[in-house]
Amino acid sequence: MSHVELLKQYELKATPQRLCVLGVLEKYGHATLDDIEKYTKVKFPTLSLSTIYRNLNEMLKKDLLSEVKLVNKKDYFEIKKEKHSHLICKECGKIEDYTIQTDELVEQIETLTSNKILSATVSFDIICKECLSTK
Ligand SMILES: [Zn+2]
Ligand SMILES: [Zn+2]
Repeated sequence: MSHVELLKQYELKATPQRLCVLGVLEKYGHATLDDIEKYTKVKFPTLSLSTIYRNLNEMLKKDLLSEVKLVNKKDYFEIKKEKHSHLICKECGKIEDYTIQTDELVEQIETLTSNKILSATVSFDIICKECLSTK
């Protein structure tokens, strides 16, 4: 699906700014507000950080984007997709997606602790294969 169609599906107008933000997220997978500003500046030098932020928020509110909360890291944004976990390289900071089934684990913990689990965010600290190969 093109980004124009994607925005339309979420009832958002396909403005050049939004398309540019989506383009950055598509290319890099996960990006912080600073990253997005850096890359959109190349195409739209006059675009202000607050405009980028407003566009991001609109797309977040519509559930087109999701915020990635990582421990000890800035917030990252990504285009919403199937629920997944993150593998974060401790050396280069790269973030990879990985889909794992947490249902069984959640059930197990609920049974063992008698608590109700509302959501599960699983992330892994890694040394990625590229960093490993340069050692
Ligand atoms: Zn790495
Ligand atoms: Zn992700």
